[in-house]
Amino acid sequence: MPDPNGFLRYPRRMPARRPVPVRISDWREVYPPAGEELIREQATRCMDCGIPFCHDGCPLGNRIPDWNDLVRTGNWDAAVASLHATNNFPEFTGRLCPAPCEAACVLGIGGGDPVTIKQVEVEIADAAVARDGLRPRPAARATGRSVAVVGSGPAGLAAAQQLARAGHAVTVYERDDALGGLLRYGIPDFKLEKQHIDRRLAQLAAEGVEFRTGVAVGVDVTAEQLRDRHDAVLLACGALAGRDVPETPGRGLRGVHQAMEHLVASNRVVAAAGGGRPAKAVLPDGTPIDAAGKHIVIIGGGDTAADCLGVAHRQGAAGVHQLDLYPQPPLARDEARDPWPTWPWILRSYPAHEEGGERVFAVAVQEFVDDGTGQVRAVRIVEVTVEKRDGRRIVTPVPGTERELPADLVLLAIGFEGTEQQPLLAQFGVRRNARGAVDARPDWQTDADGVFVAGDMHRGASLIVWAIAEGRAAAAAVHAYLGGGGTLPAPVDPAAQPLAAR
Ligand SMILES: Cc1cc2nc3c(=O)[nH]c(=O)nc-3n(C[C@H](O)[C@H](O)[C@H](O)COP(=O)(O)OP(=O)(O)OC[C@H]3O[C@@H](n4cnc5c(N)ncnc54)[C@H](O)[C@@H]3O)c2cc1C
Ligand code: SF4
Repeated sequence: MPDPNGFLRYPRRMPARRPVPVRISDWREVYPPAGEELIREQATRCMDCGIPFCHDGCPLGNRIPDWNDLVRTGNWDAAVASLHATNNFPEFTGRLCPAPCEAACVLGIGGGDPVTIKQVEVEIADAAVARDGLRPRPAARATGRSVAVVGSGPAGLAAAQQLARAGHAVTVYERDDALGGLLRYGIPDFKLEKQHIDRRLAQLAAEGVEFRTGVAVGVDVTAEQLRDRHDAVLLACGALAGRDVPETPGRGLRGVHQAMEHLVASNRVVAAAGGGRPAKAVLPDGTPIDAAGKHIVIIGGGDTAADCLGVAHRQGAAGVHQLDLYPQPPLARDEARDPWPTWPWILRSYPAHEEGGERVFAVAVQEFVDDGTGQVRAVRIVEVTVEKRDGRRIVTPVPGTERELPADLVLLAIGFEGTEQQPLLAQFGVRRNARGAVDARPDWQTDADGVFVAGDMHRGASLIVWAIAEGRAAAAAVHAYLGGGGTLPAPVDPAAQPLAAR
């Protein structure tokens, strides 16, 4: 029996983040491990609701009240088993998920403080490593069937693990030089240190998954060759086509870049430094893209923008402005607009925001200003109002509010336009839809028989938790297609959507 009064006795408490001056002088994770006492106390706040809405908030269907109670009672081995029953990689979601489960927690009704579900999750995930080092669980019997997984992000890796454990021979093809998708070179180490990915990869390899890095499917190996080699193919190539502003004057100036160019270059030098001091970040052609000593303007208000902000601080930027087209959101849930248990539009401040920089809301960029040599020196902005009319976004400048912000480096973090246009699509005979994503039939197959799709490539740019959920569900569909015995868990179907009021 859970403690029905736990939430009355204990307030919501998170572990203290490492102090700002300390953490921006290195690339280590922002949160140190929480003590066992704190986590057991916080797990005690869970009421084990008769109808646990946290379940509905989580696409994986994590058994949150079960493992909260197991942690409360110190039954860590059972908590580890319960968490892994629904989530292949809780060390990723525990660190990185924005936690729609917490937004849906019953304790959050009326502005209350939800259970620290995500923190409990990460501590269970780390306990799994401490206890048995992520013991591999290879299949008892091989099925003799073979599957190609294209892309090694969380969707591809979750599918690969599910299929290998079901006895199929799985090969993951990744065009990059290292595995992990966006978790490897997109998301900085201060959010996810890379040993977490490496440990899981070692587990997958011990379970029989084969990895081929540096292989771009559609270029280095054709779709036809892949179909000849394997009985089924799962595409999990992500949604990496960055949105751009080609019409904005000055877009072609030196120093104006896609945010991902900056993040990938920066995360690569951190990886190469192996814990030492990273070299200055440069693009593959040698163009400098490091923030050291520069005035940075980041355009965009989401995860990618916050990651650029944290990187800029660690590289020693002279100053950072982060621009958002929309007005500053409220601090608390607006029940009329986003009633509980839906995901609320509120001001989201990441640890990177506590480290410095200035957020500027309700502004649009009019021009990237040339210093006379073809290098950006400033960004000209104007205040705006934004409204939706007939489903279209109307942005109206406020006359007389134009001003310049100094800028040596401008980073566009304004979202993604779906999966990249690349040769693999035509070779497999699959098309991008109007959102730039690849449609799936109810059984996760694309227009091409035996070719499945999952993760951001299917859903559009989303979250790790959705990528894992889709990877698990698509693996179940591939297993059924191959005539595998029994069923694998399928937490979502291709039409699944986050909780919404309408
Ligand atoms: C900067 C940034 C920060 C983010 N932070 C968070 C966060 O904090 N929390 C969160 O939940 N989500 C976050 N996200 C979103 C999250 O990373 C994605 O939703 C998730 O990684 C999608 O997983 P995926 O497996 O579908 O694709 P990806 O992780 O994008 O992986 C796709 C892989 O496919 C490979 N590939 C593509 N084409 C080919 C080919 N032809 N041949 C071989 N390989 C190919 C790519 O190289 C890549 O490795 C963030 C995204 C970005 C960009
Ligand atoms: S909704 Fe909150 S309190 Fe209820 S079971 Fe889930 S985590 Fe516990």
